[in-house]
Amino acid sequence: MRGSLRYIIALVMAAFAFIPYYCNTQKNEVTGEVQHVDMSADQEIALGLQAAPEMAQQYGGIHPDRQAGAALERIGQQIVQSTKVRQSPYKFQFHLLADENTINAFALPGGQIFITAGLLKNLKTEGQVAGVLAHEIGHVVGRHSAEQIAKSRLTQGLTGAAAIGLYDPDRPATMASAAAAAMVGKLLTLRYGREDELEADRLAVDFTPAAGYDPRSMIQVMEILDQANHGGGPPEFLSTHPNPGNRIQELQRDIAEDFPQGLPGNLKP
Ligand SMILES: [Zn+2]
Repeated sequence: MRGSLRYIIALVMAAFAFIPYYCNTQKNEVTGEVQHVDMSADQEIALGLQAAPEMAQQYGGIHPDRQAGAALERIGQQIVQSTKVRQSPYKFQFHLLADENTINAFALPGGQIFITAGLLKNLKTEGQVAGVLAHEIGHVVGRHSAEQIAKSRLTQGLTGAAAIGLYDPDRPATMASAAAAAMVGKLLTLRYGREDELEADRLAVDFTPAAGYDPRSMIQVMEILDQANHGGGPPEFLSTHPNPGNRIQELQRDIAEDFPQGLPGNLKP
């Protein structure tokens, strides 16, 4: 009796996790994709603005070189203004972070974009900087954070339901199964993350030539990152931006698909 009640509770919990996830869908205006998200663009912008100062603080704050910061902002806005991104509701701001030792770039929901001085000093051309910023813009317009938030709500709900359903009070070892269910939940999140990276790369291949930059600069960025990794550099970038090797192949495929006749000759490297 107590067992079946537990299963009913588990089922109800699972339903409470699944129903809002599957009912809250919105069509993405930039990618055309129908997504499971449960927040508005205004909420994304507010969330990003709220988290931005704390995020900057983790990387030594905003870089004191205001001129370098302004150059970054100019490249970023050029990408926004020369692509369909300008029609999006997001408010883009590009920040240079003081941290010289960490190689990283990231985007908060709604348009707050950051690049560390550690990554910037490894980039050799304006096109490479544009490639990194375009990739991060891709995460924003792809609404990847909002998707991840909706997914983690779903996973947490399902993991809780599985833990209750699988728990056997006479054999506490079954908690191992509950832990396994939690792991599956984590792996799912990880896989979605990789897809997000590839979509951000694909979007950057669309955005960079529209802004006058050579999209092949992104391949150079991947090679630079790959080397930074082999040199025993900080793995942090790879945890949020996995496997440069695979991504180079995908980038080459995306570029060949967008430009079957070859790239125009006037693009900035
Ligand atoms: Zn990324």
